[in-house]
Amino acid sequence: MCGIVAYIGHREAYPVVLKGLKRLEYRGYDSTGVALLNGGSLKVYKKKGKVAELEDFVLGKDLKSHISIGHTRWATHGEPNDRNAHPQLSGDGKLAMVHNGIIENYAQLKQELLNKGHQFTSDTDTEVLIHFIQEIKSSNQCSTEEAVRIALKRVVGAYVILIVDEDDPDTLIAARKGSPLVIGVGKGEHFLASDASPIVEYTKEVVYVNDYEIAIVKADELILKNISNEIQTPYIQKLDMELAAIEKGGYAHFMLKEIFEQPQTIFDSLRGRLDAKGGKLTLGGLREHMDLLKEANRIIIVACGTSWHAGLVAEYMIEELCRIPVEVEYASEFRYRNPVVGKGDVIIAVSQSGETADTLVAMESAKEKGAIILGVCNVVGSSIARLSNGGVYTHAGPEIGVASTKAFTAQLAVLSLIGLKIAQEKGTITAQRFQHLLDELESVSEKVATALQLNAQIKKIAEKYKDARDFLYLGRGYNFPIALEGALKLKEISYIHAEGYPAAEMKHGPIALVDEQLPVVFVATKDSYYEKIVSNIQEIKARKGKVLAVTTEGDQVIPAMADDVIVVPEADELVAPIISVIPLQLLAYHIGVLKGYDVDKPRNLAKSVTVE
Ligand code: GLU
Repeated sequence: MCGIVAYIGHREAYPVVLKGLKRLEYRGYDSTGVALLNGGSLKVYKKKGKVAELEDFVLGKDLKSHISIGHTRWATHGEPNDRNAHPQLSGDGKLAMVHNGIIENYAQLKQELLNKGHQFTSDTDTEVLIHFIQEIKSSNQCSTEEAVRIALKRVVGAYVILIVDEDDPDTLIAARKGSPLVIGVGKGEHFLASDASPIVEYTKEVVYVNDYEIAIVKADELILKNISNEIQTPYIQKLDMELAAIEKGGYAHFMLKEIFEQPQTIFDSLRGRLDAKGGKLTLGGLREHMDLLKEANRIIIVACGTSWHAGLVAEYMIEELCRIPVEVEYASEFRYRNPVVGKGDVIIAVSQSGETADTLVAMESAKEKGAIILGVCNVVGSSIARLSNGGVYTHAGPEIGVASTKAFTAQLAVLSLIGLKIAQEKGTITAQRFQHLLDELESVSEKVATALQLNAQIKKIAEKYKDARDFLYLGRGYNFPIALEGALKLKEISYIHAEGYPAAEMKHGPIALVDEQLPVVFVATKDSYYEKIVSNIQEIKARKGKVLAVTTEGDQVIPAMADDVIVVPEADELVAPIISVIPLQLLAYHIGVLKGYDVDKPRNLAKSVTVE
């Protein structure tokens, strides 16, 4: 969600920060801004809208500086406009700050500051915090760093902040709690950002800052302290990311590139873990928790959005293979409804970014209650990865398109491995079925590649249906969550109202919507529910609905009934969702593009939702 970026060092800072902001654009935002120190005085430029608008706005200005902070805002407090854009300034105009996150007790702090005579120019919680820091600085006669530390002890909420101080032009101050912060360490220079994408082209040495840490950053020095002012040793890690992974590489959009990367990203997520020939499965991140997993009373999968749909597929699979009860929870609900959870429960947190605020908080509270936490996420070193007792990374590479595609199929692949491993260790699967599913997973990348060849056909179908006002997506069993995911993709990218339903449940309400205008997408690959879903298709046809069906090679029945069919390779029903979702991703993509929308950055959406 939104982004922060900063530079201090021997280069011109503004171009580095500007490029960084462009790299972070995928996270979703509504305004942009930078602060820099030019000729020793603090300059702030900010604009509602895209980074390109800021670029136009600063044309002709003297932007020379060796230190700069930048921000893309995803408004929470105050509408997106120039005034509310960051950086925000302290009352004396000497401190400029950018902030991701929310200061929950901002109203109380604001009142205190108003009583002391402060005046505010924006509606943001951010401006309150920087005024508060400056107030502490002047009343305690202390350094900015000290003031930040004192202020943050009073702050409730989630944040990453970056501060430039006009009186200390060689230092950047940064701090985080709950929102991500990565520091790139170069030679005589430092780069700070919400994720590694603005950093990777300059250095591969990075430090992930922990919650409640404050970084005091100079060109050639990085000091990390905790909130009690104790020095922390920065742990420098090597970035496992290539620049090419965050560039479009000839595709019209990141979303399309990422859809087409799936044969590789699924393969990468299975690599080194799945050995179908040897009949083996290795998941290092689960090894020391296997006894607990085998004996678990319950597995609770906690996730949001697309990851929640991956969790639903895993529920069906783990219950079937491992005979362990599984619940799939929206992290935001799980966190706040005081759930019954404790020893004997295993939580699997699923998140692409590893920074999803709701999921993080849900994990923290379950951990406090004695549950063991496993993470399935895509970003090495992310907050969820660090908070987990164990887990398995998806190796989908950076996902830039806001609507998740390759991260989803990588999650499905990894969750299948987890289910199979537990079943094998627990002895709830026969050797023959285990081997069969290993073989099925081994061949899934290739089948996904085959499904991708349907791209041109799906584009034609998209043209036919692009003007529909609503869509219904139906599926049963393992394909039910895929119906939900297909509907979500369409909503996100094309702004068409779409609903996903279990196909049988359709009779209990949504069938009332069916008429000759309504396209109904059936995810109807060959599985144990096949006969039933054929009846559901009949029910829609009998009411003149338009049926677009995703079917399996060799199916004679559904093509005779449906208005349009998309035929994908056959697979075991446990693995089929990884394939059947591909045409639905492409359908959403093409409809979004045909309607003229910015599919990589759909309106109102943010890539990783780092606020609760
Ligand atoms: N809460 C702050 C605001 O509304 C920061 C939002 C963000 O994370 O971009 O300005």
